[in-house]
Amino acid sequence: MIDVIVAGGGPTGVMLAGELRLHGVHVVVLEKEVEPTKIVRSLGLHVRSIEVLDQRGLLNRFLALGRQYPLGGVFAGIDKPAPDRLDTAHPYVLGIPQTVTDRLLAERATELGVEIRRGWELVGLHQDQHGVTAELADGTRLRARYLVGCDGGRSTVRKLLGVGFPGEPTRREWLLGEVEVTVPPETVAAVVAEARKTHKGFGVGPIGDGVYRAVAPAAGVATDRTAPPTLEDLKQQLREVAGTDFGAHAPRWLSRFGDATRLAERYRVGRVLLAGDAAHVHPPLGGQGLNLGIQDAFNLGWKLAAEVGGWAPAGLLDSYHTERHPVAAEVLDTTRAQAELLSLEPGPQAVRRLLAELMDFQEVNRYLIEKLTGIGVRYDLGEGHDLLGRRLRDVGLQRGRLYELLHRGRGLLLDQTARLSVAGWADRVDHVIDVSAELDVPAALLRPDGHVAWVGDDQTELRSQLPKWFGAPAN
Ligand SMILES: Cc1cc2nc3c(=O)[nH]c(=O)nc-3n(C[C@H](O)[C@H](O)[C@H](O)COP(=O)(O)OP(=O)(O)OC[C@H]3O[C@@H](n4cnc5c(N)ncnc54)[C@H](O)[C@@H]3O)c2cc1C
Repeated sequence: MIDVIVAGGGPTGVMLAGELRLHGVHVVVLEKEVEPTKIVRSLGLHVRSIEVLDQRGLLNRFLALGRQYPLGGVFAGIDKPAPDRLDTAHPYVLGIPQTVTDRLLAERATELGVEIRRGWELVGLHQDQHGVTAELADGTRLRARYLVGCDGGRSTVRKLLGVGFPGEPTRREWLLGEVEVTVPPETVAAVVAEARKTHKGFGVGPIGDGVYRAVAPAAGVATDRTAPPTLEDLKQQLREVAGTDFGAHAPRWLSRFGDATRLAERYRVGRVLLAGDAAHVHPPLGGQGLNLGIQDAFNLGWKLAAEVGGWAPAGLLDSYHTERHPVAAEVLDTTRAQAELLSLEPGPQAVRRLLAELMDFQEVNRYLIEKLTGIGVRYDLGEGHDLLGRRLRDVGLQRGRLYELLHRGRGLLLDQTARLSVAGWADRVDHVIDVSAELDVPAALLRPDGHVAWVGDDQTELRSQLPKWFGAPAN
């Protein structure tokens, strides 16, 4: 029997599969599309995802193919520089097309031994006490101990589970595509600048090799939202907004997206879990969806691996919902707020001006950026030190960097006292005695996802915390 079936080979699914495989879990990804998509949705990664890649030794591959941009101006496009001294070693946006992100994550998963089966569509599932049976479009059945639905916003897994997906339906739609144009670049830039004064959600910009990415509000919401628009549809909407279609031709691909904002009621039903867009959808304001999916996978991977490995303490797998559901709820709210701030009505415009003034206060600006980039997330692990539940930034140690110590996806006790011990858990938790001028705590216990589970210097206290995350001690 397979340990875990991941339904959906998008960024969330392959990230999760890689994380599971890091712990030796036998995982199979089922992806319905035979070929990777050419459609480029996300254009970048935010700080927390960049850190996550660094924590697994993957960042250099992404840096080699991406471009670093300043962090200012990301919240509702309000033009303010990033706050000083952001609490991260990576204070930038990494511009990288989603097709490249998908490919790099899939490559990593494959290198680790994940089997990605393309052209395999899940159409049914049944679970019992011992496992889950997945039914595929060609009638094949596969059995696994767990199944995770990473199958996107229209998730078949979520529907089969009957999990509610409350929120707002698509009320507005945009057309998106990559095309060539006949007008010169200066004309494109000038027309776009003028049109954007009165129209938001519109843009035409060069992406290299004479190709432009174009986005324009659609005339309405399509009846069949799965069908791509035609070139003529896109040209018509460009004319509507900008007065010209720029001579758009030779489309590389065309797509549409909407502003539906929904959150799954539950992330877990027995042996089946949901992650990424299958669990939450929202408009792409601030560029957060893919980031959220990668971070869901990072939270779930080690917990599900612990369950499969037989060492998970009671409640560990359920903490995936408890921790990640509120994070998604906040992201949904952040996109709702940004959508309002982009309205050209006088009221929202006044609120936008006010917020822009408030962002001159460093702490307000910092708060918004930390929220949007995912580094402000604090899981509720109860009362305690301010770092408890937060991810720790990368810090320099006498012998290297903290994030280098997390590549294997294990727990970590960073011990500046040299008096502590993880005896009994050494098969799951690394004990590193080192010091950092940047870390003002005697010792910190980090979970495999880099979040702080305990801070202190008392061995008895540490021993009481270890089983909460890493299960019973080995004999
Ligand atoms: C225009 C636009 C711009 C965006 N920009 C950004 C951005 O800048 N930053 C950001 O973070 N996010 C952005 N997003 C959001 C981002 O694209 C998504 O959040 C992300 O793709 C979600 O990843 P996922 O793996 O959860 O789902 P998906 O990428 O949707 O992948 C799901 C996969 O499951 C497969 N599948 C579906 N059903 C089945 C089935 N029954 N059996 C097997 N396989 C199945 C699909 O073929 C697909 O490959 C943007 C979205 C849009 C539309």
